[in-house]
Amino acid sequence: MIPTHSDLAFPEDSLPLTSDSQGEGSGDARPDKPEEACGVFGVYAPEQAVAKLTYFGLYALQHRGQESAGIATFEGDKVHLHKDMGLVSQVFNESMLSTMPGHLAVGHTRYSTTGSSRVVNAQPAVVETRLGSLALTHNGNLVNTETLRQELLQNNFNLVTTTDSELAAFAIAEAINSGKDWLEGTISALHRCQGAFSFVIGTPSGIIGVRDPNGIRPLVIGVIPSPDETTPERYVLSSETCGLDIIGAEFLRDVEPGELVWISEAGLASFPWAPQPQRKLCIFEMIYFARPDSVMSKESLYSYRMRIGRQLAQESPIDADIVIAVPDSGIPAAIGFSQASGIPYAEGLIKNRYVGRTFIQPTQSMREAGIRMKLNPLRDVLEGKRVIIVDDSIVRGTTSRKIVKALRDAGATEVHMRISSPPVTHPCFYGIDTDNQDQLIAATKSVAEIAEQIEVDSLAYLSWEGMLIATREDPNSFCSACFTGDYPIAIPEPVKRSKLRLEKEKVGTTP
Ligand code: SF4
Repeated sequence: MIPTHSDLAFPEDSLPLTSDSQGEGSGDARPDKPEEACGVFGVYAPEQAVAKLTYFGLYALQHRGQESAGIATFEGDKVHLHKDMGLVSQVFNESMLSTMPGHLAVGHTRYSTTGSSRVVNAQPAVVETRLGSLALTHNGNLVNTETLRQELLQNNFNLVTTTDSELAAFAIAEAINSGKDWLEGTISALHRCQGAFSFVIGTPSGIIGVRDPNGIRPLVIGVIPSPDETTPERYVLSSETCGLDIIGAEFLRDVEPGELVWISEAGLASFPWAPQPQRKLCIFEMIYFARPDSVMSKESLYSYRMRIGRQLAQESPIDADIVIAVPDSGIPAAIGFSQASGIPYAEGLIKNRYVGRTFIQPTQSMREAGIRMKLNPLRDVLEGKRVIIVDDSIVRGTTSRKIVKALRDAGATEVHMRISSPPVTHPCFYGIDTDNQDQLIAATKSVAEIAEQIEVDSLAYLSWEGMLIATREDPNSFCSACFTGDYPIAIPEPVKRSKLRLEKEKVGTTP
């Protein structure tokens, strides 16, 4: 049996030094970073090996979830499904994929935000309907799960998982079984879903791609160019454009907030389904979650992240000898900081790139020696230097403290930390695991107190305004609730109470 996170809790003081950056799991039992919920992918291409294309799409989206992976292909009415715990490359191999023929496929990588980390909760969620099977993949989180669950239980649905995604799949099945077709049935079920959702749903006749009315989670459309005059262009859906690039598909456009697209033999068709869509893209996708080579808001995220680094240098300058990054996710902002400040950029922490998620606890002697599993400081670069270290966020602060100590142990004379996002003060309810509020260091401590706790000479965060100005887009088109508590989608009280623990205490103590 594969252990779960909770089986593996290290005592806090023995946490190995990890960067928890993208594309890899962590040696830490509980990474000191927000964790992305999921990656979704779908391709309609009868003349191609769709399972293999989906494998590579998921491979590029691996940073969005490393707990489980799954693919469903449709061969006529028949569904071939394989899903398991582990990385995409651990769950699938060439011979497995060759047993999954079909004209279309959908796939998923998962990090559990709703439902525990068990294979039964892995996706795609396959559900039978009167029109055949549907295979649903989901990135995001529904906030009205309990209401939907009670409604479905009352209607005698046999719920086998603990995920909100299964509820959405059953809601669609219920609508289909009442006589609606795929599109009508899906749209009617979407009106029962509240929260953040980018769905990619396989059916025997085509693939459905959907974003919630606020487009909190990304979803893009790509085109596989026609190889000859007899073969039409084919379409692909992916959480990010990096999933298109890897299979040679060209980025066409985003699925718009509140839009449903239907991809079939006839091509691509669009059905706006939400009455008042208003984009509220998760700003954390831009800062940290999505891959830097993915295009979001019309440019690669590498460019945006360099820009917030420049903004940070203008807002919070400090005299120092070198600028370094917490690799990999802090690198573009550190380069931007260096450019704006004129302080040279250097690599001060080397990442052990081939360490994936490990389920083996470090030995006692490793713990005592503070062995660095993923990041190793470069003494030659750091010794005698005043160092600015740039990271994308601080959630609990435990990893930051270890990194600072490692830099000092390697001879840094001063350590100044600069964070390319504002303090995370509120939990996310829309598909990102940012802990409960009482575990967020910035929810309970001032910047000065955090600086003291992580033992830096100075600490500064990017301003909320600076983060939004740097997008060069309408600031109202982003969700930034984890920095403000201003949630764009209403959250039912019991759900709120489960994570907003400090607000609850405040409510209890306010006269
Ligand atoms: S609360 Fe934060 S992490 Fe969650 S969707 Fe909004 S910006 Fe993203």
